[in-house]
Order: sequence, then structure tokens, then C-alpha cells
Amino acid sequence: AVKETGKADFRFYEEGMLEQARERLALTVELREALQGGELAVEYQPKRNLRDGTLAGVEALARWRHPSRGDVPPTVFVAIAERSGLIHALGEYVLREVLGQLKTWDAAGIQVDYVAINLSMQELTRPAFVDTLHRAVRSYGVDPMRIRFELTESTAMRQPEETMRQLVKLRSHGFDLLIDDFGAGYWNLSHLRELPVGTIKIDQSFVRGSTLNLADREITEAIVGLAKKLNMRTIAEGVETEAQAHWLRDLGCDIGQGYFFARPMTGAAFSRYLDPTVAYAG
Ligand code: C2E
Ligand code: MG
Ligand code: MG
Ligand code: MG
Repeated sequence: AVKETGKADFRFYEEGMLEQARERLALTVELREALQGGELAVEYQPKRNLRDGTLAGVEALARWRHPSRGDVPPTVFVAIAERSGLIHALGEYVLREVLGQLKTWDAAGIQVDYVAINLSMQELTRPAFVDTLHRAVRSYGVDPMRIRFELTESTAMRQPEETMRQLVKLRSHGFDLLIDDFGAGYWNLSHLRELPVGTIKIDQSFVRGSTLNLADREITEAIVGLAKKLNMRTIAEGVETEAQAHWLRDLGCDIGQGYFFARPMTGAAFSRYLDPTVAYAG
């Protein structure tokens, strides 16, 4: 797009774009190295049943601790991975970390029923995806029921039929699916009817907004009500206050996740967090 604000502005704009492209290229090269070199990590955030506060499961969140740039946010490097095709390697890395972590928790007697892994729609376009996944889970001896996938829709679904086939296959292997960030991005109501999904995760913007305005409260309430009518479960993300947790529970929302309960933390920190005999140090 060409801006019509004069020559000087245009040059500045172009330089900005060039700079962005350069930066993206540099990050792509560095991410490829990071995937081989141990700069990546996975953190875990608890999901709590709103009714009684018990642990429902955890969500795995990828982290990139860059030696010179510092922590690169997942929103940045996941987008880079999606553009460059590195998303498959990233996904495999996260899966193996999660499977290893489940074994570690099991061996230590720490009960974590399931880990939810974020899945980009692109990952589903690789035909071998489900079989590779199934094999990995088997080789670790982990029940597929303990792995769930949070589907994020950041662009419109490009191959809806192929995607649907893969999702049905995932379900048939025992992996549970949920829609992430519902109400934001490209998810729409027909997806609730078409996708083999039993749980909706309400986008955190509505939870955040619920404290400030009536519209976001009404939308949140409507999503929970709709989910109930469709026999689907609801998770609220971005729960930051006790008041939000209580309000969501009273609406009938099943599960809450957010800083009010805990921030994402390393697997080892999570073990201490769940162990009642060890004081939690944050
Ligand atoms: P998401 O799956 O919707 O994850 C929720 C995000 O909200 C996480 O950000 C989490 O750290 C943050 N969060 C949790 N509770 C609160 C809260 O109470 N307040 C606020 N303000 N934020 C909260 P994070 O870790 O930066 O991840 C951002 C996004 O990156 C994720 O959004 C997910 O879409 C994507 N992502 C992260 N890890 C992976 C991965 O392994 N694979 C893929 N494909 N995507 C990933
Ligand atoms: Mg998620
Ligand atoms: Mg979200
Ligand atoms: Mg998301």
C-alpha cells in the first residue's frame, strides 16, 4: 500500500517495512537455531474448576529465552514459525517436552490429569501430523486422553475439509479438542456446529472487559449460555481477580485460568506449586 502523505513520509514508511522484513528474517534464522540449541522452554499454567477450586489440568505455553534479545513473546515467534514452516518443529518440541513432563510428574506422584497444547491450524495441514503424534504418545506410554489441543484460528481456515478430516482423526485417537480465544479472530458460530469440539475457551478480552463494561459482561454470559445449550463446557482465560472468578462461577462457567490462580511457570516450579508440603516460592 502506498501512502499519499508526501515523499519523505513514504520513504520512511518503506524503510519501516524493509526493517520489519529484515527483522523477521533474522528471527526466523535465530528461531531455527533456537529449536536445535536449547533456548526454548515450556511453561505450565493451571486450569482450576471454578466450583471447587480443584486442578482441572494445565496449559503448556512455549517460551523463547533469547540470549541477547531477552524473552521473545510467543505471539511474535509463533507467528514467525507459522510463516516459515518452523511451526511443525516447534509443535514437536512442545509435544515432547509435555510428554516428558507428564512422565516426570507421574513418577513424583504429582497428579496432573491433562496438558492442553496450543495447536496452530497450519500444523494440521501436514498429512502425517496425527500419526506422528499418535506414535510419540505411544512411545512415551501416555494416554492420549491426557493430551488436549487448543485450536487457535488466527487466519481464516484455508483447507476446511482437510482440516476437518484431521480434527475428526485426532478425536478418534482419543485427543480432546477445544476452541481457543472464542469470540476473537476468525472463529464463528458455525464452527461450534461443525467442529468436533466439546469445550470453548472464552477470549480473555471479554473477561478483562467484564470488569469495566456491561457489553463484555453480556457477551461472556451469552457465550456461557450458548455453550450450555450445545452441551459444551466453558473455560475463561485471563481471570485476574477473585471477583471475576466468582462472577464466572456464578454464570456457570466451568473452568478458570489466569493470574488470579497462577502465572505460567516451569515444570519444576509447578511440582512445588502443587506439593502442599513445600511452601510455594513463586
Ligand atoms: P493463548 O493460548 O490464548 O494463551 C493465553 C495467554 O494469556 C498466554 O500468553 C498466557 O501467558 C496469558 N495469560 C494467562 N493468564 C493471564 C492473565 O490472567 N492475564 C493476562 N494478561 N494474560 C494471561 P503467552 O504465553 O504470551 O502466549 C500467547 C499466545 O501464543 C497463546 O495464546 C497461544 O496462542 C500462542 N502460543 C503459546 N505457546 C504456543 C505453542 O506451543 N504453540 C502454538 N501454536 N501457539 C502457542
Ligand atoms: Mg491456549
Ligand atoms: Mg487467548
Ligand atoms: Mg491464542
